[in-house]
Parts: sequence; C-alpha cells; structure tokens
Amino acid sequence: MKDNFNSYDTYHIFNLIGQHSELKIILNTISKWLESHIPDALVTIMVYSEQDQTLKLISGNQHFSKQYCKAIDNLKIGPHQGSCGTAAFLHKLVISPNLMEDPNWEAYRALIQTEKLSSCWSTPIISAKGILYGTFGTYYRIKREPTEQNINLLLQAAALVALAIELDNERQQKLAINEKYSSFYTHHPDVIFEFDTEGYVINTNIACHEITGFSEEQIQGKHYEAFIPDEYHDLVDAAFEETLQGSAKHYETPAYHASGGILWLDMTNLPIIQNQKVTGVFVIARDITLRRKNKETLRLLKRGVDASPNGIFITDASEKMLIVYVNPAFLKLTGYTEQEVMGRDCSFLQGADTDFDQITLLKQAVEEQKEVFVTVKNYCKDGSWFWSRLMLGPVFDQYNNCTHFLGIQEDITQQRIHEEYLEYLHKHDHLTGLPNQIIFENFLEDAFEKQQRNPQPLVLFYIDLDDFRSMNDSLGYVIGDKIIKNVGSRLQEFLNPDDFLSRYAEDEFVVLMADPHDPKKVIATAEKILDLISQIFQIEGHTIHLSASIGIVTNNNSIQHSSELLYQSVLAMQEAKRQGRNTWSWYEESNNKVVQKRDYANLRLELMEAVKEKQFNLFYQPLIQPLTGKVKGVEALIRWYHPQRGYIFPDVFIPLAERTGQIVVIGQWVLEKACTDISEWNRKHNSNLTVSVNISPLQFCRTGFLEGLKYVLEVSDLPAKLLKIEITEGVIINGTDRAIKILESVRALGVQVAIDDFGTGYSSLSYLRRLPINQIKLDRSFIENLTINDQDAAIVQSIIHLAHQLNLEVVAEGVETLDQASLLYQQNCDLLQGYFYARPAPITDLKLIYMSLDSYLIR
Ligand code: C2E
Ligand code: CA
Ligand code: CA
Repeated sequence: MKDNFNSYDTYHIFNLIGQHSELKIILNTISKWLESHIPDALVTIMVYSEQDQTLKLISGNQHFSKQYCKAIDNLKIGPHQGSCGTAAFLHKLVISPNLMEDPNWEAYRALIQTEKLSSCWSTPIISAKGILYGTFGTYYRIKREPTEQNINLLLQAAALVALAIELDNERQQKLAINEKYSSFYTHHPDVIFEFDTEGYVINTNIACHEITGFSEEQIQGKHYEAFIPDEYHDLVDAAFEETLQGSAKHYETPAYHASGGILWLDMTNLPIIQNQKVTGVFVIARDITLRRKNKETLRLLKRGVDASPNGIFITDASEKMLIVYVNPAFLKLTGYTEQEVMGRDCSFLQGADTDFDQITLLKQAVEEQKEVFVTVKNYCKDGSWFWSRLMLGPVFDQYNNCTHFLGIQEDITQQRIHEEYLEYLHKHDHLTGLPNQIIFENFLEDAFEKQQRNPQPLVLFYIDLDDFRSMNDSLGYVIGDKIIKNVGSRLQEFLNPDDFLSRYAEDEFVVLMADPHDPKKVIATAEKILDLISQIFQIEGHTIHLSASIGIVTNNNSIQHSSELLYQSVLAMQEAKRQGRNTWSWYEESNNKVVQKRDYANLRLELMEAVKEKQFNLFYQPLIQPLTGKVKGVEALIRWYHPQRGYIFPDVFIPLAERTGQIVVIGQWVLEKACTDISEWNRKHNSNLTVSVNISPLQFCRTGFLEGLKYVLEVSDLPAKLLKIEITEGVIINGTDRAIKILESVRALGVQVAIDDFGTGYSSLSYLRRLPINQIKLDRSFIENLTINDQDAAIVQSIIHLAHQLNLEVVAEGVETLDQASLLYQQNCDLLQGYFYARPAPITDLKLIYMSLDSYLIR
C-alpha cells in the first residue's frame, strides 16, 4: 500500500513534469511527497548560482523564521557551511544528526538554537550530466539519524528535482530561441512568407501588408502564382522547385500590389528543414521597385550620355579633379582607353602650347564652382591635337555640396580651320596666293598716309594683260587660270621681296614699289615686266603669247586720297592701251583729260545739277528665288545720264560723291525714289517685292540717316520689312560702336540689312553672327569662277552652309550663266541676281522682266 501510494505519488510528479507544469508547483509537490514519507521532516530546496557560488532557498521557507531565511539566503557553498553548503561543495550527501555538535554548523549555533533545529540531512541536486543545480535538505527539530530507506527517499527526491529543473531549463531555453526567431520573423522589414511544400501561403509577417497592400486574410491559403504575373511563373516555379530540393535561391520578380500596380521584389527562397526533411519554404521578399526605377532612369541617362557625339567626362570634386567617368565619344576623340583615363586628372589632355588665359579662366570657374565655356587645344594619345570647345560645370548634391564636375567637349577643329581658311581667303587671291584687292588698297592707304607725314615718292604700276578675255574665251577658264598663276609667279620671282605685288582683279596686277627713287629704275622695271610677260607660256600643250599694258603713277600734290593714285594708274594704263598695248604709260597730271575735268568745284556743281536736273535715274535688277523661280525683290542701282557724256556708271561717280559729301543728298534721293517706285509698283501689281538700296559708308554714318530712313518709309508708304539696305562689311568692321547702334536702330524700324560684297572683306562669319543682319550677298568674284574652280565652289558652299546656321539669307550676285545658277540652286542659295536672269533696267521695264521671269525654274 505504502509502495502503491509511493508509486502513485511519483507517477503524479512525473505527470506534472511531463505536462511542463510550473517548476514551483513541481518542487512543492516533491517536497510534500517527501514530507509525507518522512514525518517531521522540514523539506527545503535551494538552487545553486554558479556565478556567485551561492545557494538560494526557493522552497520550504514556510518552515522557518524570517531571520533564519534571511541568514541562509545567498549561502556561500564551502566546507563548514551548514549541511547544505557543505553538501553542495562536496557534491555528496551530508548527514548532521546533531547540529549543536556538528563542525559544519559551528558558525550557525546561535541561529539554530533560536530556530530550534536539531538535525539536518542534505543531498546535492546533480543533473544527469553532473551539473550542480542546488541542494535538497530535510531539517528536524529532534536529533535524528536517517534509516537506509530515508536516504533512498532523499536521493530519489533530489533526482526528481534535478529532472524537473533540467527539463524546465531546457524548455526555457527553447522558448527564448522561439521568441528570438518569432521576433526576427515578425519585425523583419522585408516581407517574409512561409509556404507549404505545395506553394500555398501559411504565414506572413507585418511588413507584408505594408509592402504588398494585401491583408493577412487575403493572402493566407493562396498560391504564390496568384500574385505573380504569368510571364514570370516559370522563373518563380523553378526557384521554388529548387528550394524544395534543399538549396536557397535568389532572384528578382515583379509581383502584383493590392492596388493592381506592379512591385519589383528581390526574393530569397530558403528551405524549411525539419528532421532532415524540407517541410516548407520561407521567402524573404524585399521591395526594390524604387531601386529598379532609379536604375532604369540611370540606365536611360547613361545610354544618352554614352550615345552623345560630344566627349563627356565626369571628375570628382577633389583638388586634382580625377576622372570617374568618360563616354565612348571621349575615348574616340582622345584615342585613349578607359583604363588609361580613369583616375587621372584632366590636365593630361593639355600640351605645351595650351592657351594660358583659357586655362586660367577654367581654373577660376572651378574654384568659384561656376559653369565655364573655354576653347582649348587638346592632345590625343597619338600626339595629334584637336580644338575642343569645353563646357565645364559643377554638379551639386541635395545639400548643395559640389560633388563632381561635368565636362562636355566638342571637337571644333574643322570649324576653326574653316574659319581661319576663310579669313585667309578673304585676304588672299586663292589662285595666285597673292594679296587681294582689299589688302592692297589698305596697304596703299597706309603707305599714302605715311608719306604725307614723311614725304617720299610712291610708285604704282597697274598691269593689265592685253586681250586676256579672248584668251579665256578660246582656251577656257582652266587654262586662263593657269596663265594668271604663271604671270603671278613670274612677277613675284622678279620683284624685290619688299615690293608689294597684288592680284588686283581678274587679269590685273598692281605693284607698289618699295625703292623708287630713280625714274630710270622705274622705267627699267616696267620694261622688264613687259619682257617677262611677253616670254611664251607653255601650258598643257598650248604655246601662249601674252602682252600687257602698264600704267605708272607717282604721287603728286593734287592727290588727297590713295584711291586717286590708283585711279590715275588706271587712266595711265588705259592710255598705254590706246597707244597700241604691250607698252607702259606714265601718268602726267597736265596731260590727262579726265584730270582736267577733275576740278572739285566743278564736279560738285555737276553733281548738284544732276540731282536738280533729274539726271539721275534708278535701274532695278530682280532677285530670284531659285526654288520657286519667282522674283522676290529688286536691287535699286543708280544711273547718271550726263547730257554730254552719256551714262556714267556708279563705280565712277559714287566714290567722288563720297568724297565731296554729296552722297548724302544723292543717297537720300535714291532711298526715297526706290521706296516710292516699289511701293507704287507693289500696289499696282498686287505684289510684295522687296527693294534693296545700296547705302554708302558715309551716308550710313552721317547723323540724320535714321531720320531720313523714317521719313522715306512714311512718305512712300512702303512696309518697312520690304526695304533692305545694303552696306559693305567695312562699314561695321571699321565703324565704331556707333555703326552697330545705328544698325540696331535700323532693325528696330523693321528694315532689313544685307552685307554687300561679302567675302572680299576681313570679317569672318563668326564676327557677323553678333550683328543684327538678315542677309549676305556673296561677292561677284566668287560666282565668276564657281563652275570652273572647285575651290570657289567649296567656299561658296561652306559660306552658304554657315550662313544658314546663323539664320542668314544668302544672295548670289553676278550670276551670268545657267551652270552658275543651277550649281547655286543645288547649294541652297536663297536668292540669285545677275545678267543670267536680267540686267538692271528702268522701272518701266520691270513688268516685262517680271512676266518673262515668272516661275523661271532651272533644273
Ligand atoms: P553692287 O552693289 O555690287 O551692285 C551690283 C553691280 O553688279 C551692279 O553694277 C550691277 O549692274 C552689276 N551686275 C549685276 N549683275 C551682273 C552680272 O551678272 N555680271 C556682271 N558683271 N555685273 C553684274 P553697277 O550698277 O555698276 O553698280 C556698281 C556699284 O555701285 C554697286 O555695286 C554699288 O556698290 C554702287 N552703287 C550702285 N547704285 C548705288 C546707289 O544708289 N548708292 C550707292 N551708295 N552705291 C551704289
Ligand atoms: Ca549692292
Ligand atoms: Ca555687290
């Protein structure tokens, strides 16, 4: 019965342990069980703290006074530390039948006397693995020794306690791990799905709702495929399948958001392995939608930058500005490979002759973190160079810190060479390489001014080949050009380097002699030149005989301007022609008829009379748009019908009128007449012709020009936009800021501005681009050789091209042949003017011309 009870009791205790009952209850039950077997036993259980090496009473304090409990609390284990302290220390059962005499209790005599304790048996609680958990003690108020059965019971109880504590510890540990994992699961910022092996959702965490928008109920029990777009099923299925085989998988996939939109998820599949079997799959899904979007934007940006035809580089913002990115165009431009440029500072593209000013500008902008445009010479890997137009600008982050610099380089070498070439061409005759008319006239002017300050003779030769036109006509222009070239080089070879030789016009050369003191020497030179030219030329199988007429002039007192010197040399040359050619003639003041008439007072009177007597008239020459064949406008050209001398051409009297200042009156008359004529004509014929009026430099710069212009527009009733004034580039280039101001005022009125004789002056198109002009008129000299000289054709083409880039209209004047017209048409020239279409004619003939030309298409 006793045994039964015993086994029943221990069975009850095992049950409690098996059911994970609270440890305290289990320990109490064990205490009670022992107390029921050993009457009078006061059972205590103390637990051991490894760290402090102490024992703490956790069960049985109801048997003792408070002071006693306090005294044995945190009892250090060791020899002579009562029965429990000693049992724990020695890891063995300690029986103290008489506490008052027991040496283990010596320190506690007083305490046990007041507590009336007489004996104590204590056994350590040791786990199966030998770990000390505490002590199991029984106290008695009488002196008592245990029987063998008592000791068995004691050991049995201690073993039960050890088991209970061990299992409890284990459970607590498991719980702690579980909690850790569940906390990881619940609070993970990414979505975590738990799937069964079929792919159905078992569980999700908090982040799921935040990221996918679906609630837990909406997701639980669903198959993952419901959330993945069809075209990605294969990918996701394959990953799931592999995970079921026991390996982790990582991939990206789009997934539906509850709103219907698409999310991009970075997925990590992990197998859930229990008992060496995969029982499900964990999926950690990170939302990378934004990252993908940024990446996509970046990809597009990078593609754009990569594809740019301009070299692009990015440097860091360190002092050295090290390159962190270059695009393919940069590598192509410089010839370096990516590895060779990365991490280098950009100055490696500069060379010894890099423009210091530009680099200073660049450095200053970098220091001030400002954008800058510079043009620098850059060197390629192979040592060649190119002109780079560089834009460099700082890149700022959101806190306004400069983090990088962005550079864009454009190779403008072609453009630059082109401009330099054009400039050279402007100043040189491209056939002979000699200075052209403009250069010569400037040189002559300078020399003339110098000799006025410091008198010394000037000698000018005007050399005109005899009958060259017929030579051209019979042998063709190609050979004609070669003859001119040969003449040029023969002259150059013979003359002193200090003599100034120029190809002045087609078959005309001029020489300003450097050292002309001796008239005999001058004549000898003229003779020698005649001799040189009369020696035969062998050109492409042709034997060619030439001769020339030379006019010689020295400066004399009546001359006030260098152009008169030139003029007199022409007269002398004409005299030589009259004398039968192949000779020279020295201009003599007293002998010349024209000069006799060149009395300023007279001329002034004659011109004044001409205005009064209506001896002036205007002729009009049409400007045709080759695209439509339509007449778009006319140029007004003045004619002077002299009662005695017949028609005098403007080339002759305009320069004189300039000098006497009468050009102002004449010019104003031309303006008014032209505007009134065309305004009327337009009204009558219901058309919109423009009228171009030549304005001489003096007229343009005189005060009152603008007022005159306004007045004319008013009285003629011509819409301002139909009036074009033609000025030569010299007016603006030599002119002051004033000239530009006048130009701006003219444009403000709505009147258009054309640059006449373009190509003969100095200005490059890049200069003109800053001026408020609408049109350029290519000089006749370009058109002349257009169809026979490839170089001329190329120049015209590039001028037209550049002008169009600057939004300027291009007119070609002096178009004489169909070939010229059709080539210019092919070259996109906007308007054509010349004898090919019509000669200048009185307004009364304009209707006829207009009708005969209407829609004249050249194809
Ligand atoms: P420009 O402004 O270059 O005028 C064009 C000249 O080329 C005109 O000579 C015209 O008759 C001529 N021309 C037109 N088509 C052809 C062609 O196919 N072949 C050839 N060889 N020549 C052609 P024009 O009328 O003798 O005028 C000469 C210059 O006198 C003008 O050159 C202009 O600078 C000046 N001029 C003419 N009228 C006026 C005016 O009213 N006022 C001012 N200030 N100057 C004028
Ligand atoms: Ca003109
Ligand atoms: Ca012209």
